[in-house]
Amino acid sequence: MVFSFILLGAGISNRFKSNTPKQYHKIAGKTLVEFSIDKIRKFKEIKKIVFVYNKKHKKYLKKITLTNVKLIEGGNSRSESTYKALYYLKNQKTKGNVMIHDAARPNFSKKLINNIIIGSKKKKTIIPILKLQDALKEKRNKIYNIKKKNFFLTQTPQSFDFNEIYELHKKQKKKYRDDDFSLVDSNYKVKFIKGEKRNFKITDFEDLALLNNFYKSAIKIGIGFDVHRLVTGRKLYLGGIKIPSRLGTLGHSDGDPVLHAVIDAILGACKMGDIGERFSDKSRKYKNISSSIMIRKVLKEVGEKNYIINNVDVNIVAQTPKLKKFKKKIGRNIAKLCELPEDSINIKAKTTEKLGVIGQEKAIAAEVIVSMVQYD
Ligand code: ZN
Repeated sequence: MVFSFILLGAGISNRFKSNTPKQYHKIAGKTLVEFSIDKIRKFKEIKKIVFVYNKKHKKYLKKITLTNVKLIEGGNSRSESTYKALYYLKNQKTKGNVMIHDAARPNFSKKLINNIIIGSKKKKTIIPILKLQDALKEKRNKIYNIKKKNFFLTQTPQSFDFNEIYELHKKQKKKYRDDDFSLVDSNYKVKFIKGEKRNFKITDFEDLALLNNFYKSAIKIGIGFDVHRLVTGRKLYLGGIKIPSRLGTLGHSDGDPVLHAVIDAILGACKMGDIGERFSDKSRKYKNISSSIMIRKVLKEVGEKNYIINNVDVNIVAQTPKLKKFKKKIGRNIAKLCELPEDSINIKAKTTEKLGVIGQEKAIAAEVIVSMVQYD
């Protein structure tokens, strides 16, 4: 069974008072748009992803990389935007099923997507729902009470047979509606599945704060430390940057203590062992390997386990060379390697007041703390 996925992010929320549109707000270093897309990418059943954006949001969209995602400019309403995406997919000869999802609901679990895929084997239309918990009243007549058992709440992603939902949208193109299920009548066989409280819709700052808290509890901290001998005739790499120096680091790899400590901190936060287990200094494969390659490999691995970096704090301990003027450059390069904004990285350079092996210019050390978040 194959699926397409339409992510609707063209809305302008009036309830959300901020210069940055809510879809582009960041939680744990990632925009709400990326949250949805990164999760969806993990499903091999989902072959095509379409993101519908608002043309007024182009400058925010430009700052994020959405590879293998078709970008489509949205319309004036949710319905119009959805139809534009469906129309594009129709022209691509899309078949199978399509999930339609609001970018304002970034916190669905992968289990929910799995349940939709499994449910689609029996019925074409899958709608996640929640029962009402609070009492429901209606402001009409003099009696407010309503039997709430007849009511339920619908969430997204909602999944449909592609051709069916395309035809339904085509028939009623212009009408605004809350969700695509609104188009479906009793002629369609619908399977309702259990929605998720965590998959709430972000409408205001209170919701964003709730989402932030959800991920705060999932923050993991890792620590890294590394030291290399300083010798003549070797180059000095710190944080992937070549530093002019009369002494360089001795090492099996390029001997970059900063990146090695960052790698160890990342592995520590993710409970994935240490750098020595991954890049043995006995292996010829890693002789003189660039530490930038090492960190990219590690980041790919932790990314596959759904970890993302929140922030990195670095101490470089060296008597020589003077590092003050390289701090910014090193920070920027680590940010680039980790695909993070520059303000997620902090670099501090210290000496040991000429004490010990570092003070005697025989070694250089780095210590790093990284905080990471695992999402699912
Ligand atoms: Zn090292």
